[in-house]
This record gives sequence, C-alpha cells and structure tokens, in this order.
Amino acid sequence: MEHIDGRMLIGGELVESAGGAWLDSVDPATEEIIGRVPAGSPEDIGAAVEAASDAFPEWAGKSMQERADILREYGRRLRSEHKRILEIEVRDTGNSVSKLRHDVVAAVRGVEYFAGLGTELKGETIPAGGGSLHYSVREPYGVVGRIVPFNHPILFAAKFAAPLMAGNCIVIKPSEQSPLSASVLGEIVRDTLPPGVVNIVTGDGRGAGDPLVRHPAVKRISFIGSVPTGLAIQRAAAEVAVKHVSLELGGKNPLIVFPDADPEEVSTAAVAGMNFGWQGQSCGSTSRLLVPDALYSEIVSRVAAKVDAIVMGDPGDESVQAGPMNSRGQLDKTLRYIDIAHEDGARLVAGGVRPTGPQFERGYWVRPTVFADVTSDMRIFREEVFGPILSIVRYSDVEEAMRLANDVEYGLTASIWTNDLTAAMRAAQRVRAGYVWVNDTSRHFLGTGFGGMNNSGVGREECFDEMLSYTELKTVHVRV
Ligand code: NAP
Repeated sequence: MEHIDGRMLIGGELVESAGGAWLDSVDPATEEIIGRVPAGSPEDIGAAVEAASDAFPEWAGKSMQERADILREYGRRLRSEHKRILEIEVRDTGNSVSKLRHDVVAAVRGVEYFAGLGTELKGETIPAGGGSLHYSVREPYGVVGRIVPFNHPILFAAKFAAPLMAGNCIVIKPSEQSPLSASVLGEIVRDTLPPGVVNIVTGDGRGAGDPLVRHPAVKRISFIGSVPTGLAIQRAAAEVAVKHVSLELGGKNPLIVFPDADPEEVSTAAVAGMNFGWQGQSCGSTSRLLVPDALYSEIVSRVAAKVDAIVMGDPGDESVQAGPMNSRGQLDKTLRYIDIAHEDGARLVAGGVRPTGPQFERGYWVRPTVFADVTSDMRIFREEVFGPILSIVRYSDVEEAMRLANDVEYGLTASIWTNDLTAAMRAAQRVRAGYVWVNDTSRHFLGTGFGGMNNSGVGREECFDEMLSYTELKTVHVRV
C-alpha cells in the first residue's frame, strides 16, 4: 500500500495542522509506519468550529430535499471509493477484510436512511386552548462535535447524516490510532458537500478532542468510546457550559444460554458474538457466556475447540478470521487481563498466547482466548477488556443467571438463547441492556436504536431518535 500523507478538512480545504505536528500510523500486523496525519491542535479545532459556524446559516436554510440530494451524492461517492478505503482501513486497523468490508456499506446505508427521514422532523400543534394556538418546531443546535473510537474508523466518521439532515454542521475528531481513512473521507466530503458543513480534525484526545468538547460554540457533543473518556467529556463539558452530550460507551455483555439451547448452535453463536474478526474490539461483543450446569462441560469444550480453530494471519487475506490487535496499547491491555485472569483463578481453555510462526514475530498478535470457571468476583467478569477474551460463567438457575447478567456497571447488549418464548421474553424484560438479541448476536438493523443503559451510555443511534437528538424543541404560543 502507498504511504498515506493525510490531511485534515477545515472549511473545504485539505490542510496540515497549524502547529505543523504529525502523528504516524502503524500497520499493527507488521509494526511498519504506513502513513501519517496532522496532529490537530486547539487552534485547528477553533478554525474548524468557526468554519462550521460560518457554513451553518446557509446549510440550515436549505430545503430538506436539497440536503438529502447532497447527502445521497456523498453516499454514492463514498460507495465508489469502497475499495480504496477498505485497503487502507484493513492495514490501519488490523481488522479482517471479510468483516470490515461491511463497514463502508453500513455507513452508506446510514446516510441513505437519514437522507429519507428529513421531513419526519415534525413539530406539533398542541390544543392547549385558551383562545390561542400552540405549536412546536425542531431546530438544529448549530455546530455538533463528534468524537469517535478506533475500532470502526470509517463507519463512525462517515455516518454523519443524522445531524446534517437536522440542519447542523459538524466537526469530527477521529481516533489517533487508525486515522488514515479519515483523510480519504476528507477528500470525498470536500468534493461533495459545501465548504465547512463537515470538518475533520485529526489528532489525539488531549490536543483535539478536549478543545472540541470545551468549545463554547459546540453545544451538542456526540461521543463513541470508553466509559472513562465519556466521564471525562461530561466533566469537561460541564466546566464550560450546559451541553447536550450523547455517549455510546463500552460493554461487558452477557450471552445467557438457557438449558433447552442446542449446545452446538449456541457454541457457534458464542464465538460469532465475540467478533474475533475485530479481535473482540467491538463494543457489542458478548464477552460473558452464562451457561447452565447441565450444558456447562459440553459448551466449554465446544467453544474452546472452535476458538482454537480460528485462522489468524494477514487481515487482508479473505480466509483469515482474526488479525492483530489494533495497537501496542490494546495488545498490552489484553495480555495484562490474561495475567489477571490466571491470578484470579480462571481456567484457560483456549488461546492466551502469541501465535507462532515467522509472520507473527512482529506486530500485535495474541490468539483468541477463552477462560472457563469465571466467577463474578473476578476482574475479567466485571471489566471491559475490549479484546479477544471470552469468559465462561456457570450458573444453576434462572434467578442466578439474571443476577449475573445484570451484575456489572455496563448495560449495552445482551443475547438470550432459548426456544422457550416465555423464558426469552421474561429475560429480555429483566436484563438491563439497551440492545437485546434473542437467538442471535452482533447484528445491527437500521431503524432499531442502538445504545447503552447503566454506564454504557446515554442516547441511541441508528434510529430516528438519533436524528431527533440533534434538534432542540421550540414551542410557540400565539394569542389569537
Ligand atoms: P477512547 O479511548 O475512549 O477514545 C475514543 C475517542 O475519544 C478517541 O478519538 C480519543 O482520542 C478521544 N479522547 C480521548 N480522551 C479524550 C478527552 N479527554 N476528551 C475528548 N476526547 C478524548 O476509546 P477507544 O479506545 O478509542 O475505543 C474503545 C471504546 O469505545 C470501548 O470502550 C468500546 O466499547 C467503545 N465503543 C462503544 C461503541 C458503542 O456504540 N457503544 C462503539 C464502539 C466502541 P485518541 O484516541 O485519538 O486519543
């Protein structure tokens, strides 16, 4: 792959950072530097917010149809650059090409979905009486700040149609870990959207993310990332002004197996639910497998055998099922949790080591890993690893399963596996999670809100509520 010399997009221009600093980006499979992006500074954030503020009146003044036409054209161009983006993204993230391919498609579908919903941003007339007319309208915030993580870089950066259809302009801060595709995105946006409507400032959390959160002209902040950063963003925002902050955060998601489940089917699902194509670096991964006594030994051995059979290697190879971790930091964190799991007394039944062979000598490699006999006092039960570690937990009755399912600070996703409809519906009612699958895992469906309960977040994306969340309601009283 050619070396990528990335640029930011500010006010329709592809630019370097004001301070002239750069961030290198590394291929996690080889540790080779494959490109660089500007290290955005508070000054760059200031320029991007100013560009967005300048572009806002004209953008908000366009008709819904005009905005939709522009966004659809942007979506077409994004789709046409699919191959180029995919090649960069595989090298920059280490995610397997067979899985990552879907991300650009999902981003385009998100654009098309919201482009069609503009005229649904309706207000109401309210029969409050008293000889008057009351009505409400939905107005855009103005400039939205969006900060996204490393695991789905193009998907999260490119799907900005909800705030835009609502009439806002936006400043996006991608992750410093896998920022290269954002540079291609900048070119596509420059060619398809009016200047300043979408701005992209690369850089790290301290230099670019925090100034974006604190900027007084940014009242609406949309964040995807970890709980600690989400809390830091809430604190920083509150130090400056009253802001609307939506948070899509981490998870420690349960897959609850009921005694009537088919052991082979559920073992396959447990492996799929871990998203090993992303090396488990997926917020919705079902990383706690809760198994009843009667099925425990059989499911532990079936899952371990399936995970041992996962093919690791070059993430650009279609037959490869798991590539490297995204960064040295992610690898070190995963290895630390493997040590902690051993110390806490969990039983390693698959992986836990670096793969062997010449191609794995450099790069951030660790085999997909399974620990059995995990109990609720262990750290791998309670804490999000955001890596390829599946914890298998044994339970005796449904009460215990539900208690275990809800016994963490998170509440993002849950999966329930049973053919007993009543049991499934009861469990879906009782589990504290924003997104629940029955007899499925991992899948997202546009129109069905995704987001977390408890410390997994505030707000929902991928649905009409997401678009509403980029508007403020204004109510008007007219004395007739
Ligand atoms: P992260 O460390 O929280 O970083 C996310 C983004 O925030 C990055 O762009 C980061 O910049 C930026 N950032 C860091 N500190 C900041 C600060 N003080 N102020 C403003 N911005 C700041 O998360 P990550 O490691 O990239 O991603 C993994 C996490 O995201 C996991 O917890 C995962 O579960 C969660 N996630 C959630 C969802 C969901 O839909 N719920 C989806 C995907 C991922 P730099 O990295 O450039 O420094």
